[in-house]
Amino acid sequence: MRDVPKRDVKQVVYLLLGRPFPRWDERTLDVSWAIVSSVIKKLARVDDHTLIEALNKTGDLGAAAEEIFRERKLKKQASLIDKELTISDVARSLESIAELVGEGARERKERVLESILGQADPDEIKYLVKILLGEMRTGFNEGLMELAISRAFGVDTEVVRRASMLSGDLGEVAENAKLHGSESLRKMKFRFFRPIRPMLAQNAESLSEILETHGGRTALEFKLDGMRVQIHKLDDKVRIFSRRLTDVTSSFPEVESTVKKGLQAREAVLEGEVIAVGEDGSPLPFQYLMRRFRRIREADATLRAIPVKLFLFDLLLVDGEILIDSPYIERRERLSEIHGEIPVVEQIITEDVEHAKSFFEKAIEQGHEGIIAKNLNSTYTPGVRGKNWLKLKEVLEPLDLVIVAAEYGHGRRHKWLSDYYLAARDGEEDRFYVVGKTFKGLTDEEMSELTETLEKLAVRREGRRVHVKPEVVVEVLYNEIQRSPKYECGLALRFARISRIRYDKDPRESDTIQRVREIYEKQFEKKSRYRVEDRF
Ligand code: AMP
Repeated sequence: MRDVPKRDVKQVVYLLLGRPFPRWDERTLDVSWAIVSSVIKKLARVDDHTLIEALNKTGDLGAAAEEIFRERKLKKQASLIDKELTISDVARSLESIAELVGEGARERKERVLESILGQADPDEIKYLVKILLGEMRTGFNEGLMELAISRAFGVDTEVVRRASMLSGDLGEVAENAKLHGSESLRKMKFRFFRPIRPMLAQNAESLSEILETHGGRTALEFKLDGMRVQIHKLDDKVRIFSRRLTDVTSSFPEVESTVKKGLQAREAVLEGEVIAVGEDGSPLPFQYLMRRFRRIREADATLRAIPVKLFLFDLLLVDGEILIDSPYIERRERLSEIHGEIPVVEQIITEDVEHAKSFFEKAIEQGHEGIIAKNLNSTYTPGVRGKNWLKLKEVLEPLDLVIVAAEYGHGRRHKWLSDYYLAARDGEEDRFYVVGKTFKGLTDEEMSELTETLEKLAVRREGRRVHVKPEVVVEVLYNEIQRSPKYECGLALRFARISRIRYDKDPRESDTIQRVREIYEKQFEKKSRYRVEDRF
């Protein structure tokens, strides 16, 4: 970082984090895997077969491209075009790719890609491809970048962290540190409309564990099953950001107007959950919200068809005052002063397990996911998943399902069949229905062992996918069963993860698709079913 020329510092920070632009910047590259792979094939003059072979070996397109170009270079003893690629070349190309939209954009993007990848050497190609596809996966994250800036320019780590949190732009932080030193970082101010990373919750096993962890007294809130939003309001302007920090204002026009009209503050940064609600006001399963979200570009009839409601739960800034360092209890108090007609998530403060239990049951009874416990004295720690917020959800009974196919993974997992298709047996006919797919839950050892077992059961191959005889039973946990057009049976497990491999269990003893349907139906005893569900 110290050796990087001043003019490149910002860009180097973004690129090392695997991004073309700063995090708050809404521009996107919109380049698909298909475009990048066709450019690679064209430049290296290789066919599909060679690319797939390299992909199977390396597990990702960046590494595959590197390998292909390295081999070609060895043979030709020269790179394809003899010109050094600079950081500003890359920055300019990325900007022009983002600007290309509409008719003919794909072809023009391809041309820019050809020119930039054509100038790169194999190492550079590897990382450019990863950045283009948003798949850096180096494990180098913002936290480490903050440490790097602190060390490179001798600025206290806390000062770097705070400047980064407030400005939302590590590139600017690094540039300031390099050009003007520590004092300039202390002066960096909060910028509206650049989202702050959300504070996250850890899993808890029980209410008594929660009370103990929080020193005998805690705040419990309903855990609503919707979409986390961070809302910035500055005078008449309101923007809504998702948990992944993208601007989703246009998906939720009525949330925007509710905040504009209802909030009793000129400036605020708020957090809350947007949930889909049925006609009687009770929560709808999460998938309805996602549907609405995806259909944003379609006629606004869909928007009206699935009503949503905002519930607030935190306040990070109000009328010029930053509350991030204030304890939860105070933030919540300030929120209660300004929320106006916008509902706040239901909350209790308790020292009593029985009281906590009845609150948890009430949450489930009303169709929510569970509760989140918040340490009364805790400050807001952006991006941290710690014990100050603990979540407890209702657990659905595990299902014993059968693996009917599996795919070789990516990166570290590319040698293993690590993504599994989980199927439920039909209790009446002799066949299996896929109800989910997961790569979660198993250790490396288990995956490697399972790969051997599944390879022996292989019946058909389709690229990186192997179809297998339905022999291996796994116990699967999940959060919800939802309707899905993805699978033939019309149902899919949400957040499926394997809890155990049941080598001891016969596939004929596994759970049936009829059982999956029953559990699906049972969910509606608490959640309301959308009346026109069948339209979707
Ligand atoms: P999880 O997604 O299971 O890690 O749980 C954390 C998420 O729960 C947050 O990101 C929010 O979207 C959501 N959530 C629902 N209700 C609350 C609440 N009262 N406080 C904080 N987060 C909540």
